[in-house]
This record gives sequence, C-alpha cells and structure tokens, in this order.
Amino acid sequence: MQISEYFSNPRSPYLFADIARRVSVFKGQNPSCELLDMGIGDVTLPMSKTVVDALARAAAEMGSNDGFRGYAPCAGYDFLKDAICAAKYKNTAITPCDIFVCHGAKEALGAVTRLFAAGSRVILTEPVYPAYRDVNEMRGNTVLCASTGREAEFIAAPPPFSADVVYLCSPNNPTGTAYTRAELEKWVDYANKCGALIIFDAAYEAYITDSRCLHSIFEIPKAELCAIEIGSLSKSAGFTGMRCGWLAVSPKLVRGDGLSLKDLWSFTEASHSNGVAYIIQRAAEAALSDTGLAQTSAQVSYYRKNAELLAKALRSLGVYCTGATNAPYVWFECKKNKSSLETFDELLCAFSLVCTPGVGFGAGGEGFCRLSGFCTCDTAKKAAAALCEYFRP
Ligand code: PLP
Repeated sequence: MQISEYFSNPRSPYLFADIARRVSVFKGQNPSCELLDMGIGDVTLPMSKTVVDALARAAAEMGSNDGFRGYAPCAGYDFLKDAICAAKYKNTAITPCDIFVCHGAKEALGAVTRLFAAGSRVILTEPVYPAYRDVNEMRGNTVLCASTGREAEFIAAPPPFSADVVYLCSPNNPTGTAYTRAELEKWVDYANKCGALIIFDAAYEAYITDSRCLHSIFEIPKAELCAIEIGSLSKSAGFTGMRCGWLAVSPKLVRGDGLSLKDLWSFTEASHSNGVAYIIQRAAEAALSDTGLAQTSAQVSYYRKNAELLAKALRSLGVYCTGATNAPYVWFECKKNKSSLETFDELLCAFSLVCTPGVGFGAGGEGFCRLSGFCTCDTAKKAAAALCEYFRP
C-alpha cells in the first residue's frame, strides 16, 4: 500500500502542537503561576439542566424493553430534524427532510469534500479555520485564498476569478466577524453565476447580536441553489464532547447533469455512518427546546461578554481588533513589527496569558492573535488587565 500523495503538507497540526508544547514548558517552569488561558477553543461551562435531564431520560429508555433503540436513522430521528428546523430555519425554504444530523460540524465539513471532484478549485477566506485547508489538501484540491485583512475589516468579498467551491464561516473563527445580508448576497450571486458550491459554516450562529448579520445563508432565497449549510451544537449548547451537528441542503441544489447534491449526500452518508446515538439526539432536541434555548443562550452571552471585556480593554488603548459582538473570539493586531508567535511568547512569558498566534490560521493571519472568551469572567478580567499593561505605551 502507498500513502496518499496528498499528505505531503500537514502544516497546522505542527504549529498547534508547538504552541501546546511551549505552554506546557512554561507551566513546568512556573508551577505556581495562574495561567490565563485565552487560547482555548473549547467550551468550559457545564451542560444545561434541560440537556442533562433529557440525556438521563433517554439513557433510562435504552435500558427498558419498550424504549430500547438500535441503529439510529442515518439522517437523524424526525424529532430532532423537526426541532432543528423549528429553531434554525423558520423563515427559509429548508424543511426537516433537508436536514442530516451528524457527529458535529467538523465531520460534515470534511465529509462534504466527497461531493466534489478531486482537484477542485476551493476558495478559503484567510485567516481560516485550519480544518478547511487540511481536508481539501488531503483530497488533492487546489486551495485559493480570498484574503480579507484589516483593510476589508476581515470580511471577504468574492474574487474576480471563478472557483468550484467556497467555504464561508460566519461568525468567523478566528476573526469573530460575521457577514451582513448585503455581503452574503454578493457571495450567493457569485456562486450562482459561476456554478460554485458554497459551504456555509454556521457553527457560531448563536453568538450573533448584530441584527444586520444573517443566522443562516438560507435567509437569502437564491442560496438554496448554491449552498450547503453546516450547523453545530458544540459552541452554542456545550456539545463539544457530546458531538452533534447537522448539514442542511435543499433538493433544488443540483450540479453536473442535474444530479441532486442532497441525494448524493444522503448516499455518501449512508455508506459512511450509522447515525448519531439516540441519547445524544434526545439531548440535542432538548437543547433546541424553548427552555433549552433560554438556558444555553445564557451560556452563549457569558462567553461573548468575556470576549467583549477583552475587546473593550484593547480598544481603550487604540489596539485594532475585531470580534466579540457576534462571536466568542477577539482578533487583535500585534504590536508593530511583532509576529504573532513573538506576541504569543511575550504574553505567555510576561503575563502567563495564552493566546493563539494568527499564523496558525494561515499566512493571512500573521500580525494578529486570537483571544477566546471560553473562560471564566474572572480570568477574562485578569487577561484584560494584562493586555492593558502589555499594550500601554
Ligand atoms: N467550525 C468552526 C469554524 C469551528 O471553530 C469549529 C470548532 O472549533 C468547528 C466547526 C467544529 O465544530 P464541531 O465541534 O461541531 O465539530
């Protein structure tokens, strides 16, 4: 057997491993030091009561003759598809049968590459969530960058060339920026004109507070002709360790000789997965109920407020940053002539503050770092004070 030639360029895992190593060395050398961990991309609050109760009820059902379930339907139980549709797609053409439940967004973001030909031209908007690049390079696709940058306020506009696929992430990891209707319409027009497929990653949708920003790309009617949306309960309901997300695709999305991407997705998923566990789907249903949404939105606000605190501190010193309004992340500019890794090292060594160097999100992220609000309010306050000291002229 020969290893796939497409494994030749696994950059980002090395960088993130190197960052983890530097933090671990620092901790070893400073055992009594309180680490202000703003690098974390994982949630930290415990699951809400409604979700935990639903988990316990479903587990009890599995232990009874009447309630036991075997394999789940590959696309998900109807009760969850109904709940997703009611909570997320009310004002769109998406119906429960257009929803495919999966083990979190990351799985679907990678698996969706099975739909397009190897060698496809794929646009990523750098700085970018590294998994998009990795899964596409592993399939031999050509990655093209629509760079964003400070001049564009880290919002990408369609490029003057055509492509086969575009990944859009809104609200964005790492920049925390979110697309308005007008900005997304440009991408939908672009894709419909050149026949590209948009893969819209809405993993942070629950964090949107700006009413101009769209929660779903399907709020734009013509998006159903060109887009697949991927959602997740990880960052909105604390499901990072539970694993539940979904993919939404309209039957109107066709490519090639009239092939329905929904049918193709249904086929490829059925050949790769036997569905998400019943107890997880019941927990997901509970997270999307009115009570569940009230409890989880309190958690979302808590994380976002931490991010807002950090952004406020940075802005008070004139440091350029994006994010926090619609995301749990703050993306800030490093000091003049400092690389993102140098900034990471300085903050770690002088203030025990861990951030994520922007270069980890591609060359377009150099000169910036990401701070995460997935921490306690107390840690965020200490980090804000440390950042003020670091940036004070
Ligand atoms: N999409 C983005 C932009 C993310 O930042 C993450 C996780 O950090 C994911 C997807 C993965 O989400 P999930 O836990 O649902 O796989």
